Amino acid sequence: MGPSVDPVPSGVLFETDTQTPDLALDKDVSKLKNASPRQHEYVWFNIFWFLYLHIVSLYGIYLVFTSAKWQTNVFAFVVHLMCAIGIGAGSHRLWTHRSYKARTPLRTLLMLWQTMGFQDCIFEWARDHRTHHKYADTDADPHNAERGLFFSHMGWLCCKKSPEVIEGGKRIDLSDLYNDPVVMFQKRHYMKMMPVLCFVLPTVIPVYFWGESWLNAFCVPTILRYTCGINVVWSINSFAHTFGYRPYDKSLNPRDNIGTWMICVEGFHNYHHAFPWDYRATEYPLYNMLTPTITFIELMAKIGQAYDLKSVSPDIIKQRAQRTGDGTHYLWGWDDPEFTEKLKSQLGVVSNCEKKLE
Ligand SMILES: [Zn+2]
Ligand SMILES: [Zn+2]
Repeated sequence: MGPSVDPVPSGVLFETDTQTPDLALDKDVSKLKNASPRQHEYVWFNIFWFLYLHIVSLYGIYLVFTSAKWQTNVFAFVVHLMCAIGIGAGSHRLWTHRSYKARTPLRTLLMLWQTMGFQDCIFEWARDHRTHHKYADTDADPHNAERGLFFSHMGWLCCKKSPEVIEGGKRIDLSDLYNDPVVMFQKRHYMKMMPVLCFVLPTVIPVYFWGESWLNAFCVPTILRYTCGINVVWSINSFAHTFGYRPYDKSLNPRDNIGTWMICVEGFHNYHHAFPWDYRATEYPLYNMLTPTITFIELMAKIGQAYDLKSVSPDIIKQRAQRTGDGTHYLWGWDDPEFTEKLKSQLGVVSNCEKKLE
């Protein structure tokens, strides 16, 4: 079965895609969302692999509290953080969205950490994620949230890609990735590097350096840490596309949700889909400071390894929130009819939005 329709872009990917002064597409993208009925072709290897990972991880959680050494638990967290930065600052913000530029030493470090996270090589990760943004919540979106929470979380990896997703991926310009020697090196050697960085080293290091048991070293910093890492990224595709507010663009499924942020340290997804080339997670400096990926990029900029960081001006953000937002910008309930001007002045509440603009 070929694609039923040509994939039609439902989101912006780069600044050059934007068609309105407030950096959106010049059409109602809510009408493009779809999920045609489909007979999925299951990938049984992945289904059993994910089952295995989650069962061993449950045992890993038990070991964290009963027999793993504290050094092992700390090590697991540090490896998790390295992988999260490799994926968040590397394959996501640098290579998919080109939200900043990085010198070769930083690109190499991010490539190694990204490999340790084992979520496909940078080339494939970036191609799929660009497809996700450009065709968000349509049949050409690899983890189309219109197919439900489970599909967008992990179901999409349990079945073969649809023809629309393959077609969408083919229409994405990947020339910058082909021209990046670090990306192409990883692509060529991925299947040799990944098992060593993701599974062998995190198991051997605790045994060799602080005498951890093989079982604890395998279950905690390797399998549990890896399973947490993939679930964090999956949650952004599922929960952050389902629950929360849409202060910047109510026609998009992606939402801002503090709950998702607390679990994933990345939950301002309405902002991210509205302005994907912004290197920041959100316009709020406090949350950016608390987001390791963003703090890492800013730290790298200070030492000259990252440069040309892109961000969207407060004026454009305000224009966009006022034109397409759901009214929850800055202060929840600000636009509720029962929250009268009189009540606002009685309570001494001033909209941060207004305050910033005057
Ligand atoms: Zn998304
Ligand atoms: Zn993205």
